Amino acid sequence: MNYSVYDKGQYRTTHLTEDTMWGAFSMALSGRSRHVASYKFGFLKSILDNLYEVDENLTLSFDQLFGKFAEIYWNLILKYHLRQSPDNVEGNTTYLEQTLLEAKSKYMIPEDTPYESLTYQMALDINSKVKSRCKNNVVGALFGDTQELFYSFDKKSEWLRINPQMYTFVCKHKLVIEKLNYFEWAKYLEKVNSSRSSDHLLTKIDESTLRSNLNRYRKILEDEFESHNCFYCGRKLNAQNTHVDHFVPWSFIKSDDIWNFVLSCNTCNIKKNDKLAERYYLKELLNRNSKYDILRFASNYSPKKLEDAYDWAKSNGYSTVWRPA
Ligand SMILES: [Zn+2]
Repeated sequence: MNYSVYDKGQYRTTHLTEDTMWGAFSMALSGRSRHVASYKFGFLKSILDNLYEVDENLTLSFDQLFGKFAEIYWNLILKYHLRQSPDNVEGNTTYLEQTLLEAKSKYMIPEDTPYESLTYQMALDINSKVKSRCKNNVVGALFGDTQELFYSFDKKSEWLRINPQMYTFVCKHKLVIEKLNYFEWAKYLEKVNSSRSSDHLLTKIDESTLRSNLNRYRKILEDEFESHNCFYCGRKLNAQNTHVDHFVPWSFIKSDDIWNFVLSCNTCNIKKNDKLAERYYLKELLNRNSKYDILRFASNYSPKKLEDAYDWAKSNGYSTVWRPA
């Protein structure tokens, strides 16, 4: 069945066992389903990177999804020069490659420029072009390949809603699903690229979305949340000694949300690194978020989301719990 012609899709509402859900992902990613280009992998990454950006109905907008999608492919295609389809398919360049190349020449962007160096206006324009060129094929394809279980979508109103059973499943097994996706994606890229550009493929895929510059959050945290002391050790902060810290590590949550940010001193920031802080600090952060009207800054926040993110990080292997000395 060709799912890409569908304007809408509705996920099946039957009860799903873990086996069925694993089956849906392994089937979608395996070589047994047809790949004309790497977009299925990239779209799955866009959803995984946006997992904590959903609203209370588990809905994501196409702008959120294709913003990530554009970032991923800008970096893979223009920064790392990785082809996304074999030469004999769809002529020499795919429509996505063409879209990005057109934007590069329109704005006279130098070779090898990473996505994060684009201006806000450029990124906005590029995201919107990528969305309108890609939404037709990509959204329906992954919907079909995951056996109509993963999400519902509507191309006209431009939203995608994740099946609640699948949402819990994916959060619970996020790192494994991410690794499975990267592995199959790398295998695919290896096939369609020369051996030189295929060096460090897994790192290139993982780093196709990067954490943004967090300094812009610092002032909000200082002014609005009256953070003048290190969230962990309580030491007074000064201009040289202040870091914006992802409370639930970035490598797990992959998004920048004010409800997950705290200010910390140098020492704590370096020592905590990629670890979870002990549960006491989760309670502190939940308190802070309830004390200051966090919804003014992040409409997608709920205390449960933060608590779940903490617990899911733990069950995904972030099990060394850290506290300041
Ligand atoms: Zn500290």
